[in-house]
Amino acid sequence: MYFDLAKELNTQQCTAAATLHGPLLVIAGAGSGKTRMLTYRIANMLQNGIAEESILALTFTNKAAKEMGERIRSLTNLPLKKLTTTTFHSFGMGVLKQYIQHLGFKNNFTIYDTNDRMALIKEVIQNLDYVVETFDLYELSTLFSDIKTKRKVFGANASDKIRNLYNEYEKHLKAYNAVDFDDLIMKPLDLFEKKPEVLQALRKRYTHILVDEFQDTSLSQYRMVELLAQESRNLCVVGDDDQSIYSWRGANYENLVMFERDFPERLEVKLERNYRSTGTILEAANSLIVNNQIRKEKKLWTDSGKGSSIRLIHPANDDDEAAVIADEILMTHKKEDRPFSDFGVLVRTNSLIDTLETKFTERGIPSQVTGGQSFFDRKEIRDIISYLKVIANQDDDINLLRVINTPRRGIGRTTLEKMRKVADEHKCSLFSALTLMSVATDGQIKEGMQKTLKRFADMIENYHHQLFETRTQRNMVLRTLIGEIGYKAYLEAEHPDNENVVAFKMKGISMLCDMLGRWERNPENSKASIFDYLNRISLAGKENVDEERAGKIALMTIHASKGLEFDTVYLAGVEDQYIPHARAIEDNPANIDEERRLFYVAITRARRSLIISSCEKRKRGHDEVASLPSRFLEEIPKALFDEEDPAKQLSSEQVVDKLRLLRERLAARNNV
Ligand code: ATP
Ligand code: MG
Repeated sequence: MYFDLAKELNTQQCTAAATLHGPLLVIAGAGSGKTRMLTYRIANMLQNGIAEESILALTFTNKAAKEMGERIRSLTNLPLKKLTTTTFHSFGMGVLKQYIQHLGFKNNFTIYDTNDRMALIKEVIQNLDYVVETFDLYELSTLFSDIKTKRKVFGANASDKIRNLYNEYEKHLKAYNAVDFDDLIMKPLDLFEKKPEVLQALRKRYTHILVDEFQDTSLSQYRMVELLAQESRNLCVVGDDDQSIYSWRGANYENLVMFERDFPERLEVKLERNYRSTGTILEAANSLIVNNQIRKEKKLWTDSGKGSSIRLIHPANDDDEAAVIADEILMTHKKEDRPFSDFGVLVRTNSLIDTLETKFTERGIPSQVTGGQSFFDRKEIRDIISYLKVIANQDDDINLLRVINTPRRGIGRTTLEKMRKVADEHKCSLFSALTLMSVATDGQIKEGMQKTLKRFADMIENYHHQLFETRTQRNMVLRTLIGEIGYKAYLEAEHPDNENVVAFKMKGISMLCDMLGRWERNPENSKASIFDYLNRISLAGKENVDEERAGKIALMTIHASKGLEFDTVYLAGVEDQYIPHARAIEDNPANIDEERRLFYVAITRARRSLIISSCEKRKRGHDEVASLPSRFLEEIPKALFDEEDPAKQLSSEQVVDKLRLLRERLAARNNV
């Protein structure tokens, strides 16, 4: 034994961590030690002889999954190579990797991210001879996702066009041997139904399942674990209904109701002591969240003392806000010798990240951004990844189309149209069509063009061999590929007279190669292929796959901050229209409740200090418009705010004034 449960956990947590079998439900407030309990519970299972390979722990982000794994390793002092701590999507991917052939796909399938999906939807529209401009691609993409995950069904009056598009979209995915994110959950479910022996095999293997952040588990995800745990009954779920912030993605209270229905014999444990925050922060959070009507009543207490008051700052505009936050953090870092990683800066929307990030960079403060534009969304990075995707899966027409003329090879429209025709005739991929055309003797294509096509096809084949048949130095192979396609010259031609841009982009590409190098040197990945690497990147989404958090400010959206904690939290842009978000204000009260839960999540990330910033004015496009403090500030007792009034800080009197103004405006609007 390397740990003593009774010392590390309180009585309630201990009860939960010591109950190793049967269904278990823990619904408790923020910072009450749910994740900690779960981690110890797994360690305890291992100590009690439950095999590591039979445990499946599902968390919300890859990062959380990794941290949980590491924590359990250090608690038990075991290597635990077969313990699965992962996310629903990664788990689904693993299942598909093993069994997707049963659904008529090949094992080297590609995961389509949002960008790939949009490109595919566009292509499908064109294929059906509809006009792209008459569709809202984003809306269509959301609708497809809702249909696929069964959140919506086509109504009786749904247009034939939309139905056709959806069917074509599905057909194309299959032809390209590609799956989208929703498929990572829905296809395993499909598989469980069609191949009961697969479900049976997984049931036999994963006899103990645990889910963190259960409130954000979608109904399909719930269905997945419910099916797996139906026989073993060993399903433990922990969560906090007050932190449910993904209802738009299909997560809602229903999963809780379902769990209660499906596992009536469950043990329920309540955790009521908060270990994370000061009394002041906790009181602010509690007073806010009671304004939500539909929720499980919870009591949370702490004995860590009141701590310091919440500070409200009121900068003139967004630029000022970024400067104040950057300067304050820099000062505290120096004066109190505190690492930058003590600080979390949270915002409601991605659009608020840029100004802050720029300011941190200007001041030389290291920061790590989660959300915002991801490294993997940069055009140059996507280009290179598209090459890898085609090299890994030659059926992937979407990525083939992306790379075939990037850098330009002079493969023109007519040739592409011919390629499409050949592919249709032979019912094959564009890549196979291209290969056929490069060696055809029917004289349909000019000799020069045939040579170009052949060179391209040979190159893809060549790199396929190099990247798949060796397990070393693949990062060097990638560098050679980038040289061979002439990517730098292409960038120089795209950005004449702008060396800096070219240098910046090439540096990003070099970072990508370095990442691959680090990944392949990691013993954990000794058996993995480029295919695994690509999937890992796709699943990482907006998370940083590779970066160290140590010594950096965490700058992120509230959504991304779930489950995390920081000594000091800055909440920026706490203004009406941002939080609650304009969209929510216009729609319905249920959305305001969800915004309130978001605000609750944000506040409860803080351990010791909470600073809330709401600007006088904010840039909207080219204009600066007057902003008002968030209406949620009114729900926090004034006594919890700081009384002092140093520069740029609101006195509580001013806060009251501002809020009165806000109330009047709201009333005026409601009366019209
Ligand atoms: P959230 O709802 O935000 O996910 P949570 O309920 O998962 O929060 P944890 O992150 O597990 O809470 O715990 C919050 C903090 O309190 C952590 O720093 C954790 O180590 C600490 N903590 C929890 N329980 C105890 C305990 N019994 N003794 C000491 N520290 C504890
Ligand atoms: Mg947690």
